[in-house]
Amino acid sequence: MVNSTIQIEADPTTRAAIQHLKGLDFELAYLALLTREGLKPISRWEKTLDEPALEALREIGLLTRPVRRRVRTGLAFTETIFGKSPAYLEVYAQHFENLPVDKSAETIRVEGFLFGYPPCCVAQYIKHPYAPNEFPGHKQEILFHWTCEGCILTPLLMPLYERIHQLTQQY
Ligand SMILES: [Zn+2]
Repeated sequence: MVNSTIQIEADPTTRAAIQHLKGLDFELAYLALLTREGLKPISRWEKTLDEPALEALREIGLLTRPVRRRVRTGLAFTETIFGKSPAYLEVYAQHFENLPVDKSAETIRVEGFLFGYPPCCVAQYIKHPYAPNEFPGHKQEILFHWTCEGCILTPLLMPLYERIHQLTQQY
């Protein structure tokens, strides 16, 4: 068994930033930590975040960027993306800025790549969303992708997601 390399420093500034995010929404803090630890190149929060929230994300080492989107009816809204790599934020913004939200195969491929989903799971999801798999439901719940049948990658990622989920709860 390999020791986990995930160690989130408990310095007061980091702790306060994570607690602030968690106070807004547990999932926001969880996504921020998954991204900070490199499991996701970038993450998306489908809302505008206020300055203290953006500051908290920056405090734990993430870059942030607002992206304008539209819903199908044409109404505009702003989502927030965050990650460690400016290049991936740029790729997201270049592709999705001002685009309506959709669930096309193209969108799922780009999102899957940028959000760190295993390519096998993305390919299966495009062919058949939520296809049955042998993966335990309670484990699926803390993931953001739907695991493909016989997935090789998800079981490798799972202990890391579990560890970060636990850490988020502890803050
Ligand atoms: Zn898979």
